[in-house]
Amino acid sequence: MDMIFPRVCSQCGRTGLYLCLDCRDSLQRIGIHIPKHSRLEGHLSLFRYRGLVKAAIRELKFDFVSDIVPEISSLVVHSLVNQYPHLLRYWQENNFVFSPIPLHLRRKLWRGYNQSALLAEKIALELNMNTRSDLITRIKNSLPQSLIKDRRLRCHSLNKTFSCATTTPPPNIILFDDVYTSGSTINSAAGALPENCHIWGLSLAG
Ligand SMILES: [Zn+2]
Repeated sequence: MDMIFPRVCSQCGRTGLYLCLDCRDSLQRIGIHIPKHSRLEGHLSLFRYRGLVKAAIRELKFDFVSDIVPEISSLVVHSLVNQYPHLLRYWQENNFVFSPIPLHLRRKLWRGYNQSALLAEKIALELNMNTRSDLITRIKNSLPQSLIKDRRLRCHSLNKTFSCATTTPPPNIILFDDVYTSGSTINSAAGALPENCHIWGLSLAG
């Protein structure tokens, strides 16, 4: 397949990889923050939503290049292992379970897949951790957060967007989303989980 449709770097166009090594070197890291007024113990955004990461996410979401998933996942795994070994060990030793932020069914049917779920499953597999895509359901089909410019409307539009879909969620959960915009999506999903869950957020970009 690579001979017919060669892999081309999402940013610079060089052939070989979707995320070429030179463009990976130019990524800007973000880091951990502790959100206020949130159920999250902490949130880790790995990279700024620009350049290679932005181009790769756009290909994954809008150009249906789902075979870019292993390369994006390996970027996330590499970053966790090398930049955040203590946090990763805490997650692994306490059996944190990846839970991708769900798409509304209509958008999932349109795209054919939930890009965050594909990434979370691959990342968890490589880290020898578990994924549960059935913990949370999206009950409202809100506009993509990136299309809502007014910050107050963003928060409002996600009010009661999610509900917990199980009576027995695991005690420790990592909510995974591809892009962290205002934080309202992950915070809203965290709010749907029971009080006694320990919840972290992880996003590829922010
Ligand atoms: Zn490149």
